[in-house]
Amino acid sequence: MGNIAPALLEDLRKVLGETGLIEAAFAGPADSEGWIARPASTEEVAATMKLCHDAGQPVIPIGGRTGLVQALSRTGHELGLSLERMRAVEEIDPTSRTMTVQAGVPLQIAQEIAEEHGLMFPLDLGARGTATIGGNIATNAGGNRVLRWGMTRDMVIALEAVLADGTILPLQGKALKNNTGYDLKHLLIGSEGTLGIVTRAILRVRPKPKSENCAFVAIPNFETLTKFLSYMEGQSSGSLSSFEVLWSDYYEFITGDMTPHNPPIAYGQAYYVLVETMGADPKKDATDFEELLGEAFEQELIADAVIAKSESERHALWHIRDDVLQLWQLSPLFTFDVSLAIAQMDNYTSEIKRRFDETFDNPQVMIFGHLGDGNLHVIVAPGDKGLDTHHMVEEIIYDAIRSRNGSVSAEHGIGLEKKGYLSYSRNADEIALMRKIKQAFDPKGILNPGKIFDVD
Ligand SMILES: Cc1cc2nc3c(=O)[nH]c(=O)nc-3n(C[C@H](O)[C@H](O)[C@H](O)COP(=O)(O)OP(=O)(O)OC[C@H]3O[C@@H](n4cnc5c(N)ncnc54)[C@H](O)[C@@H]3O)c2cc1C
Repeated sequence: MGNIAPALLEDLRKVLGETGLIEAAFAGPADSEGWIARPASTEEVAATMKLCHDAGQPVIPIGGRTGLVQALSRTGHELGLSLERMRAVEEIDPTSRTMTVQAGVPLQIAQEIAEEHGLMFPLDLGARGTATIGGNIATNAGGNRVLRWGMTRDMVIALEAVLADGTILPLQGKALKNNTGYDLKHLLIGSEGTLGIVTRAILRVRPKPKSENCAFVAIPNFETLTKFLSYMEGQSSGSLSSFEVLWSDYYEFITGDMTPHNPPIAYGQAYYVLVETMGADPKKDATDFEELLGEAFEQELIADAVIAKSESERHALWHIRDDVLQLWQLSPLFTFDVSLAIAQMDNYTSEIKRRFDETFDNPQVMIFGHLGDGNLHVIVAPGDKGLDTHHMVEEIIYDAIRSRNGSVSAEHGIGLEKKGYLSYSRNADEIALMRKIKQAFDPKGILNPGKIFDVD
């Protein structure tokens, strides 16, 4: 692929200015330095892409760098294009319930500004402080509240994007409905920077809930766990916003000696659930929530429960769920993000645990996830991190997913990391059609090359 041509760097500097083109750490501490363009407007993004297109220069769009599938890793001498200088929240429209933002706005800033206006942007995930709206859109991020408000795809009304050749696809209107031909924004959402650069978006915001109730509950077995989910969905009048499950191994690790968290509920059960409702009547919702859990206890759907009684207790319970970076203490480890039908989860987790026990000496397998969405995160610390080991672990995880018609990526995407397993969840015709779409958007193949699949 070669180094970036000096003449192109000179032209880019003319468009972007001295601070708009820097040499810096590229994707993370493990990655070497590379050239990164930092455009400050959509027009600068378009001018950058036009120059790169004319020169055949590959480009990797960069958001908050919190992605988990090596989608920012270089395969050659790509130019990084960071949206870090496009961080404006341009407008909040409470009447239309929309928020217009530039792609570099961190998710948490979008959430906080919506809240200041009595609104809520419901996308939420552990990396909220750093991940950007552009990155969320490019990965179709899921997170903690998909059960009620869907994935990022469900929260984007319109997009502005710059294509590989510098063409700007303009931001359309704020109306939720727009059935005028193919909905191109949905191709860009989840495309991991391979089809275009998201520069601005109109997001759908909701009225801010007036109440949030949350609890940790303990459940003895999987059958009861699924009954409790159905019970909460059926009895909470649409207010159920999260149903996050921690398998006992993970619960005992995250609240054990190696972390700052104390167990809110005693050990001894098979599953621990962080359950949350959001509503509009604080007093009544708190009573209803307590009564719901009381009734669940009577019906033997839960064995134990602790309800957060204050904002700080609520944060402490959520921190237990969100503090996944503690897992790095178990390194070397491999992380997975799979989805499958809820009814198949129990036999899936039993099968992979059995196969890990048969294959490795004393492997550690931790499981947690957004169970209501059919999404499991599986963390495997097999004892060593050789290339063969990684491959063996992947085969066990993904074989069992393929045979159950599940997905090798529920919400993190494919990047480089899962490229070899795309065919486990998509057939040859689907992948061929994806290649044609890539060809139509980016004929020279300069946008995030080598990610998701190879282009012939
Ligand atoms: C602690 C932690 C918890 C997490 N929890 C969740 C979770 O619950 N759910 C979930 O879905 N993910 C989760 N993630 C993964 C990650 O936060 C999301 O994938 C997030 O959406 C990535 O956003 P980013 O801005 O960091 O993107 P980056 O990591 O910078 O980029 C990710 C991909 O998007 C592309 N991209 C970035 N910006 C643009 C743009 N403007 N235009 C076009 N392409 C672009 C990049 O090229 C790359 O392919 C978690 C990560 C961490 C570290």
